Amino acid sequence: MNTADIVIIGAGISGAVLAERYANNGKRVTILEKRDHIAGNCYDYIDDNGILVSKYGAHLFHTNYEEVWAYVNQFSEWYPWEHKVLAQVEDKLVPIPVNITTVNTLYGTKLETDQDMRDWLDANRQDIPDAKNGRDAVLHKVGDDLYEKMFRHYTKKQWDKYPEELDASVLNRIPVRTNFDDRYFSDKYQALPKGGYTQLFAAILDHPNISVHLGTDYFDVKDELGSYEKLFYTGPIDRFFEFKHSLTEKLEYRSINFVSETVQQEYFQHNSVVNYPGREVDYTRIVEYRHFGNQTGPQVTTIVKEYTTDEGDPYYPVPNARNQAIYERYRAEAEALKDVYFVGRLANYKYFNMDQAFKNALALYDELEQPARPVDAA
Ligand code: UDP
Repeated sequence: MNTADIVIIGAGISGAVLAERYANNGKRVTILEKRDHIAGNCYDYIDDNGILVSKYGAHLFHTNYEEVWAYVNQFSEWYPWEHKVLAQVEDKLVPIPVNITTVNTLYGTKLETDQDMRDWLDANRQDIPDAKNGRDAVLHKVGDDLYEKMFRHYTKKQWDKYPEELDASVLNRIPVRTNFDDRYFSDKYQALPKGGYTQLFAAILDHPNISVHLGTDYFDVKDELGSYEKLFYTGPIDRFFEFKHSLTEKLEYRSINFVSETVQQEYFQHNSVVNYPGREVDYTRIVEYRHFGNQTGPQVTTIVKEYTTDEGDPYYPVPNARNQAIYERYRAEAEALKDVYFVGRLANYKYFNMDQAFKNALALYDELEQPARPVDAA
């Protein structure tokens, strides 16, 4: 294996950003990627139906961070895309996040104004300030009927845990709206890369100082790496330490089993993503990729049902107190290592959104290579 100044494990968001930063600073960078493609879980490709699909689930970019937006715009054109999600609740399709339309459709009310919605919520919600878990967070916002209909079973399917077994932060990802806004996110910038995420990553990594080794598991080659200045690890933190704390306490992750189907019609469903928060089906949601970017083509569409599982590639850390305590033991060991840095969703065991992953990688580079100048004396 070639010698390099910087070794990076993983070609997802964190790995690609750090590689680009160091390469542009004159360093020779080697990326080792276990999979046979770049872009991590953002990887997308044109499938047999001619549709741009994401191998590891839909990725919707949204951010309020100006620096992240400016950064990603250097590598791709982006088109505006405001994500919307519908939930199949019994026999009705309703917007999620909960908004005025959700309540009117499910309960036959005729709410019209922000005040109408606030009054409805006040009559239904429970007052649980400082909610400590996901159940209390939802009850506090919308009350127990919507909790039961839209959150309880979806969460059990997604995490194999009920909301009370998860940090409040997991369920607090979803806001409640007192208007008709049916967008999933409210960030200032909401967009998708023209040509897809794989092309975006190819552009980030397109530098003569970067060499990417696909199909290469770091743990198979680590003894052949020779010396380097710094190593950045973006995989699961417990794997780096050979799961040493797992005999008694295993760090949990959730994976997704994606089951793809071809349907011989132009569109299968009304929207790119339809959630199934009930117990009638085992999948959490169906994604129909041709909706993204309004892709046109023959009368055939690809739909993907998502079944969340414990087995398989780890996608989600499971945020609760137990896992945090186990993670802290690994983190203490990680911090004691010299010139080895842990970055990203799996290495930091945090449920980061894409923009947070970009931001953290950029910030880590700045912290290591561009120490803040001392403030001039006044
Ligand atoms: N959630 C839910 N019902 C839904 C959508 C989300 O109960 O229809 C809960 C669920 O626990 C989920 C969390 O809210 O894990 C966060 O949802 P988000 O859409 O942010 O999850 P992601 O897109 O990252 O899978």
